[in-house]
Amino acid sequence: MKRRKFIQNASLTGLGVVAGTATLSCKETTSEKPSEEINKTLAVTTGTFPIVIATWNVPNATAKAWEVLQNGNSALDAVEKGCMVEEANAEGQSVGLGGLPDRDGNVTLDACIMNKEGNYGAVVCMQNIIHPISVARKVMEETPHVILAGKGAEKFAVSEGFKRESLLTKTSKKKWEEWKKTSKYKPIINIENHDTIGMLAIDKNGDISGGCTTSGLAYKMAGRVGDSPIIGSGLFIDNEVGGATATGMGEEVLKTVGSFLIVELMRQGRTPQEACEEAIARIIKKSPNIEDFQVGYIAMNKQGETGAYCIHEGFSTTKYENGSNENTPVDFYNKA
Ligand code: ASP
Repeated sequence: MKRRKFIQNASLTGLGVVAGTATLSCKETTSEKPSEEINKTLAVTTGTFPIVIATWNVPNATAKAWEVLQNGNSALDAVEKGCMVEEANAEGQSVGLGGLPDRDGNVTLDACIMNKEGNYGAVVCMQNIIHPISVARKVMEETPHVILAGKGAEKFAVSEGFKRESLLTKTSKKKWEEWKKTSKYKPIINIENHDTIGMLAIDKNGDISGGCTTSGLAYKMAGRVGDSPIIGSGLFIDNEVGGATATGMGEEVLKTVGSFLIVELMRQGRTPQEACEEAIARIIKKSPNIEDFQVGYIAMNKQGETGAYCIHEGFSTTKYENGSNENTPVDFYNKA
């Protein structure tokens, strides 16, 4: 398998690595154990923490998250700050600023965040705010609710001090205008490059959090919401077990509650890799038309082991671990 390395230099490596092992408490997840032992709490010696893993080739985002972790901050802070990097990147056309709009020309954003306590916050179909991941965190921390949608989410964001701004860049507008000339509505899934950013981080205490942010399918119907901001589908974290996040055709991920499924499979003893493969297998079993869409998953367990799998070639992950920021192509199902 081809591997590309992005070794971050100077300032970041200069921060040093939290080396050695950490001891933490977690639930035994080996399914071969007798059932009475499954929930036994035991000490597990981990690899080197912290670790950050994200969907797609996003070395700047993982580097930011890593920097936050190296400064002693939480996995929650890391995923928020890491996701913000891609939200602010006008070149990326599937997240935040510069995201491709819906079929009516409006950029609508979805995001969610989950912390180690299992708390969750999300915004769906929100316009004009560049950092939906941060608004999602505010929903989680400052409101009695877990999801705010559309105008309500935007109003809440403004009340929290977020600035309203247009997210449709010249490039995205031009692409949309070209797309409008085609007569048939067809969502476009980007299978080879930058897409929804799902990020999982484990901090030096061994605590896991995750975030997921997207502008959703390009040229979607107005009001359409995908998997990315929905708990259990685009993202799920259980700090006793691990976390998972998704990219690709949200409708397929939603129908199989993919991220929750992966975490539950890891709880039953599957490795992150095995769990991702099983979640893809569930989609393939139910949807014979896999030529028409891509789905990719990434997962990390409490021990810091990671896995990823997708339907078609083209998906990759970026992982920052041991001072090394590495983009790796993901193994895929459709090899025929
Ligand atoms: N999962 C996102 C959605 O369905 C889109 C993507 O990752 O391409 O909205």
